[in-house]
Amino acid sequence: MNLAPGSTIGIIGGGQLGRMLAMAAARLGYRAVVLEPEADCPAAQVANRQIVAAYDDQAALAELASASAVVTYEFENVPVAAAQTLAARIPVYPPARALEVAQDRVTEKSFLNGIGIPTAEFCPIDNDDQLTVALKKFNGSGVLKTRRLGYDGKGQRVFRNMETGGFAGTCEAMGNVPLILESLVAFEREISVIAARGRDGSIAAYDPAENVHREGILRTSTVPAGIGQQTALAAKEAVAKILSALAYVGVIGVEFFVLADGSLLANELAPRVHNSGHWTEAACTVSQFEQHIRAVAGLPLGSAARHFDCVMENLIGDDMLKVPALLAESDLMLHLYGKAESRPGRKMGHFTRVLRRS
Ligand code: AMP
Repeated sequence: MNLAPGSTIGIIGGGQLGRMLAMAAARLGYRAVVLEPEADCPAAQVANRQIVAAYDDQAALAELASASAVVTYEFENVPVAAAQTLAARIPVYPPARALEVAQDRVTEKSFLNGIGIPTAEFCPIDNDDQLTVALKKFNGSGVLKTRRLGYDGKGQRVFRNMETGGFAGTCEAMGNVPLILESLVAFEREISVIAARGRDGSIAAYDPAENVHREGILRTSTVPAGIGQQTALAAKEAVAKILSALAYVGVIGVEFFVLADGSLLANELAPRVHNSGHWTEAACTVSQFEQHIRAVAGLPLGSAARHFDCVMENLIGDDMLKVPALLAESDLMLHLYGKAESRPGRKMGHFTRVLRRS
């Protein structure tokens, strides 16, 4: 059933993604209530209401369920149990299964491989001995990551040509949490595809963006990506497969490594709107944020066609000093997140330079 204008959409998480979702919801005539423990968060500044409580607070979840017609979320570490509790009362999109898959890198890669989408080779690691064996298998090179709660390159360690051991203490240094060793991929570039699936099963995929990360944080997304048509099509098809396999509703972001021969390895999926899709605000009639709201509200999806070539750049920490100069440029869309305090590594906003008509 379509959500009538004036209905309320619950959003778990109060960061910039929640903020942009609340803004898109407002433009379609909906209200937004945000569940977030930090008061006056970026999303609450533009929403109708904030419930200030932890994401797993049972009373707060009950309040969110009674206040909302449908609930969605802006980050992938929403406790699965919280999503399931809510889903027993009202629709929750994307489905809790998508959270389960995305929250553990081993589950995620096994799921992807299971539906025929290749990833880097991987081994679950629980101790230094297993690390020694796995590194040997990968010829001494690999990326060691925490299985859960890792993002923006946090909780990662790269090994190159270290077949012979000397790994004592590595697992302890990583916090004695479950780990995964991935083979070190010699990729040519990194891309991501943002796509949506509606409640009726229809799918709309945006063009792949080429992403540049520094210190584990996304810096720029450029569209079109420097890849051939076949690779672009293969990436979109892989994402469509993921959406269908998860009976997904909403927007997803999937990151891929592109190898020298144009083939793809999926790196990770984010069951939410994604930083590398912010360019859609400036270059498409229907942005990823509106697309997500349309999907969870049961409205028809909009077109994912791109009308401009563009480059999106994040404003991180002191980059805020560039704002006056950016505002003086023509054909530049600026988006600030309403964060009072700028800190190194903190995403404060982004801008998209529209380059030309495609
Ligand atoms: P992730 O947290 O998985 O997105 O990783 C952060 C970044 O580390 C990626 O965007 C890549 O640049 C790099 N990276 C992650 N996994 C691998 C891998 N298996 N091989 C090579 N580089 C990787």
